[in-house]
Amino acid sequence: MAISHIHIGTNQGDLRANLRAAIDKLEAQGTVLDKSHIYETEAWGKQDQPNFYNMAVTYETKLDPHALLKLVNDIEDELGRVRKEKWSERIIDLDIITYEDKVISDDTLTIPHRHMTERNFVLVPMIEIAGEWMHPTLEKTIDDIYVECLDRCEVIFIEKGI
Ligand code: AMP
Repeated sequence: MAISHIHIGTNQGDLRANLRAAIDKLEAQGTVLDKSHIYETEAWGKQDQPNFYNMAVTYETKLDPHALLKLVNDIEDELGRVRKEKWSERIIDLDIITYEDKVISDDTLTIPHRHMTERNFVLVPMIEIAGEWMHPTLEKTIDDIYVECLDRCEVIFIEKGI
């Protein structure tokens, strides 16, 4: 068994239901050991679209990293497919942020996630569940990476959990 942290984001449709559905599908294939609260953030980079709901989970899995990538891509397809018939927007995004302390960089997969250090919407939910996790190449914890992060995007705590 391995421990991974997965970040989930959505900005189309019923945001809380989308997060719930993604977590249910993860739970069908492994164990969600911990969940952050939900945070609302402005769309990063491209602001002419609805705000996002974001959260992160600690996931225990028997899958190797590439099989886990296939699982999260399949979950995105399954949850997106319903609406994609009518709307082209992707309603759910799952990113593998960490996988144990593995470092992977190939055509399909980068672990730790290549943008994790520069995005508050990833770091803030990660602090809740993995603040002490040590980035294997930067040799800094998530807490320290957040303190040094220059991103000024607001990340708003949503009181009601999932
Ligand atoms: P995006 O839709 O922007 O999240 O990008 C999805 C693509 O990023 C996938 O097809 C993956 O091959 C690739 N990718 C690379 N590293 C990761 C990662 N750590 N987690 C999820 N997707 C990744």
